[in-house]
Amino acid sequence: MHPTVKIHARGESRIRDGHLWVYRADILEVHAAPGDVVCVVGSHGRTVGHALYSDRSQISLRLFSFGDVVPDSSLWRRRIEAALAFRESLAIDATAYRLIHGEADLLPSLIVDRYGDYLVVQALSQAVDRLLPELVRLLVELTNVTGVLARNDPKVRLLEGLDQRVELLHGHVPERVVIKEGQIEYEADLWQGQKTGLFLDQRENRQAAATYANGDALDCFSYNGGFALQIARKCSSVTAIDISDEAVARTKANATRNGLTQIQTLSANVFDELRRREVAGERFDTIVLDPPAFAKNKASVPKALSGYREINLRALKLLNPGGHLITCSCSYNVDEATFGQVLHESALDARAHVTVVEKRMQSRDHPVLLGVPETYYLKCLILRRIL
Ligand code: SAH
Repeated sequence: MHPTVKIHARGESRIRDGHLWVYRADILEVHAAPGDVVCVVGSHGRTVGHALYSDRSQISLRLFSFGDVVPDSSLWRRRIEAALAFRESLAIDATAYRLIHGEADLLPSLIVDRYGDYLVVQALSQAVDRLLPELVRLLVELTNVTGVLARNDPKVRLLEGLDQRVELLHGHVPERVVIKEGQIEYEADLWQGQKTGLFLDQRENRQAAATYANGDALDCFSYNGGFALQIARKCSSVTAIDISDEAVARTKANATRNGLTQIQTLSANVFDELRRREVAGERFDTIVLDPPAFAKNKASVPKALSGYREINLRALKLLNPGGHLITCSCSYNVDEATFGQVLHESALDARAHVTVVEKRMQSRDHPVLLGVPETYYLKCLILRRIL
């Protein structure tokens, strides 16, 4: 018999509202093994759709097809083809970008990033972990890449009862891969770098930042130097600050590789550094704030908000009138309206008059699925201090 899971009316109405997840509390009966593809049954025996089942996560079901159509064996291929065709249509000016963004490509809990001739995949549920060999076979066939690496080391895998591991799944993947983003070349470490190697979700925001950047610039939370490298040509000086020595070393190497001698690097805590520079009376024309997610869960939101308030206040104080602040939050738990409120408060405290030049989000290769608010996590505002 085909594995089935019966759900509560609450779960059904969530799906009707466009979400893809059914939580454990809304599960009534399970006739399935961990990681099975299951038929989801609602009230009166109605088939809601088909889903990936997990027996460990709070997210028990992730729907990927709807109604009583039984997905055939070519469904994964068609989904991957559609995801690839969409990226193709974006005409992305970079060799590294996201090919598959989980839920938003109706391939829930599957992440695939392309770095030139290599793919990095993440299987974030029991079912995708089990399907991975088949999915990788299809990906290789459809992309013709030289190597596929599994960066199955994110912590969320533990919630699924899966282990954390990094392994080669196809061909070979070198220790360092050089990729292009616009005119800039980066060295990316796919085996050990953060996420799958680079923060691809910020690619378009880095390029947008370059439109406004000028004068003396600060790139705070710089990682491998993403923003610094993109804005450097427009600036007389750029200081890239990160707390990680490794990230700073890579920024330095990337600056050299691109012949950008105006970039300086500094290994420091941004909170201390912004305060120190304010006391010293320094001023800048361009400041980027791209911190890690301060609010990893709901409980940490108040503390996160004071963190965002602090760095934005200091940055606005350091900014010359006419200067630009590119400020980001990748905390899903801090929504756009709340982040906007924090920025307003920071501007008032800094006695800065500020206009919003652009409201941006994650790059288009990381689409937001309406109905699944969790897919909208990255906010990026470009502000101009007018007084
Ligand atoms: N802007 C980058 C991505 C930044 S990721 C890009 O476009 O690629 C966030 C970075 O913040 C990480 O590299 C992390 O090492 C750094 N970080 C975290 N806390 C910090 C702190 N208090 N001070 C400075 N850097 C910090």
